Amino acid sequence: MPAPRRKRRRPDVAVLRVGHRPGRDPRLTTHLALAARALGASRLFLHPPDPELADRIAAVARRWGGTFGVLGVSSWKPVLSEYRGGVVHLTMYGEALTSVLPRIRRAPRLLVVVGGAKVPAALFEDADYNLAIGSQPHSEVAALAVFLHRLLGDTPPSRFRGGEQRIIPQRRGKRVLAVRGRNPG
Ligand code: SAM
Repeated sequence: MPAPRRKRRRPDVAVLRVGHRPGRDPRLTTHLALAARALGASRLFLHPPDPELADRIAAVARRWGGTFGVLGVSSWKPVLSEYRGGVVHLTMYGEALTSVLPRIRRAPRLLVVVGGAKVPAALFEDADYNLAIGSQPHSEVAALAVFLHRLLGDTPPSRFRGGEQRIIPQRRGKRVLAVRGRNPG
């Protein structure tokens, strides 16, 4: 009889966004946080801090469930040096996703770093992996989304326990249920 297949443990993935410009690109960083949350990351470190943005994401998490949160950091270097896990910097100049994925798949914890308009050169040295989602320029939201989905696959609904409402997928139209008590996911 074939041995039962063991379920692969998903790594805990935190995201660090470096070079956010509060007041200038709140929409882009909000989309980055929303994509991180929906696609399975556990939290977003935001440099520099932006309390208004963090509050908006907290409101989304209250409504739609889960424990994702945004933590403002005034300096990004200590986040990398104090992180107990692999550090993956997403950059178009890095190694191909397909060559890095097998090396990081089994890591228990990963910190994924994405840049903004200007990326500090030290990031390339401080990261364990510089990883490209194709060697063409695009966007931090697209790069993070592709990376998380390739690493984690579909996000199980159980990650979003405790929300106030949940969507019932429909072929057409919208159906949203108010959740009374605990959302079982
Ligand atoms: N001009 C910046 C630089 O010096 O690299 C890039 C800015 S880009 C708009 C912002 C962020 O998107 C990058 O720091 C990187 O994290 C991500 N990004 C853009 N294209 C990427 C790609 N092909 N692969 C991986 N990440 C990418």
